[in-house]
Amino acid sequence: MANSWSANSWRQYPAQQQANYPNPSALAETAANLAAAPALVSYEECQLLKAQLAKACNGEAFLLQGGDCAETFDAFSQQSILSTFKILLQMAIVLTQGAGKPVVKVGRIAGQFAKPRSSDTETINGISLPSFRGDMINGLAFDAKSREPDPTRLTQCYFQSAATLNLLRSQASSGTASLDHVQAWNEGFIERSALAAQYSVIAAQVKASLDFMAACGIRNQNDSALSRIDFFTSHEALHLEYENALMRQHHDRHFISSGHMLWIGDRTRQLDGAHVEMLSGVDNPIGLKVGPSMEPDELIQLIEKLNPHNEAGKLTLITRMGADKIAQILPPLVQRVTQAGAKVVWSSDPMHGNTHSSSTGLKTRSFDRILSEVRQFLAIHKAEGTHAGGVHLEMTGQHVTECIGGLSDLRDEDLPHRYQTACDPRLNADQVLEMAFILADELNA
Ligand code: PEP
Ligand code: MN
Repeated sequence: MANSWSANSWRQYPAQQQANYPNPSALAETAANLAAAPALVSYEECQLLKAQLAKACNGEAFLLQGGDCAETFDAFSQQSILSTFKILLQMAIVLTQGAGKPVVKVGRIAGQFAKPRSSDTETINGISLPSFRGDMINGLAFDAKSREPDPTRLTQCYFQSAATLNLLRSQASSGTASLDHVQAWNEGFIERSALAAQYSVIAAQVKASLDFMAACGIRNQNDSALSRIDFFTSHEALHLEYENALMRQHHDRHFISSGHMLWIGDRTRQLDGAHVEMLSGVDNPIGLKVGPSMEPDELIQLIEKLNPHNEAGKLTLITRMGADKIAQILPPLVQRVTQAGAKVVWSSDPMHGNTHSSSTGLKTRSFDRILSEVRQFLAIHKAEGTHAGGVHLEMTGQHVTECIGGLSDLRDEDLPHRYQTACDPRLNADQVLEMAFILADELNA
């Protein structure tokens, strides 16, 4: 099957979760324009990420992947991008220090605009309209016009992703994200948090090490390894026309230039489906969500299709079982993959199996259950002798109130204060930093 892959072979396979465009020729025209537009990321950058993930595969690095459940046009701002970027870097510092290994930093950002839905339609007060599928497809407002899939949104996603990447690249390369600034990031940012003191200690240790290295003449301010960082982007490759339009050729290889790492969602991971077919032939690092219904043999077949050459760093398995299921479901999968000798990065998404309705009806997640899934994930890999290679979180650097629990003990009644997500509930800055400290401790153990 791998031999018959082409940039368009996915069209012969059934595609789940695709919107019904009322005007297909308008969609084709937009896709043609995007196909002629510049790549958002380069082939070389994708290979660099793959090389870093290969280290996570061997237990020599740890993957930190996180960001919004869904990016939106409305929440597009410098402040929102920077808050996610900064908190990811702060977590990375904490994790690097705890785990004693490099942290591979990947945002769910600059392309995360399309959402799978459990139903094609939504009914309110007897009126049925197409479900909201993310800003890449249609609008959230519950009226017929806004819910109609509109291809011009693809173009808007492309340009918003380009602007987001532009800011991320400038931050990552200009020294703003350098280790010399780890202390400054604390200013006006998390000092009100109970975790600030703990972070300050680590920041001071990093600063002291840098000063020591400078005093010994081992480094100077311009050392690029310390003054610039690698930061990568990722999103769910859900909208096949969009991803296809941004597919590019590099010599005789193909890659998707909409983001560095692309993942296949739990709802679109059918072995004979169009999403798996498309991603099986591109050279990007790929993520595969692995939910509780995954069978060991099915997983092996997916791995063989997605990573036929068993290349380390190519495939990340993002398990999202739920805190009450992981102990039963993950070990047989890990054993089967190990037995097959498949090289994968095992990452934990402790978010998607742990969503529930709060007493006020808002969709939420509890910090304790999220933590419980991550802890079990680490313990299972320890017991199996495999590497717990990373985490995948829905999070923001802003002080939203979407998930309950954590040190500030958010409760159901607090949720409406700053419930801002366009889709699933995210951990806020304090909760996610607390998670990083706990993870760092566990990884250190
Ligand atoms: C997501 O990551 O937002 C998502 C929809 O996850 P999953 O495919 O694992 O349900
Ligand atoms: Mn989500």
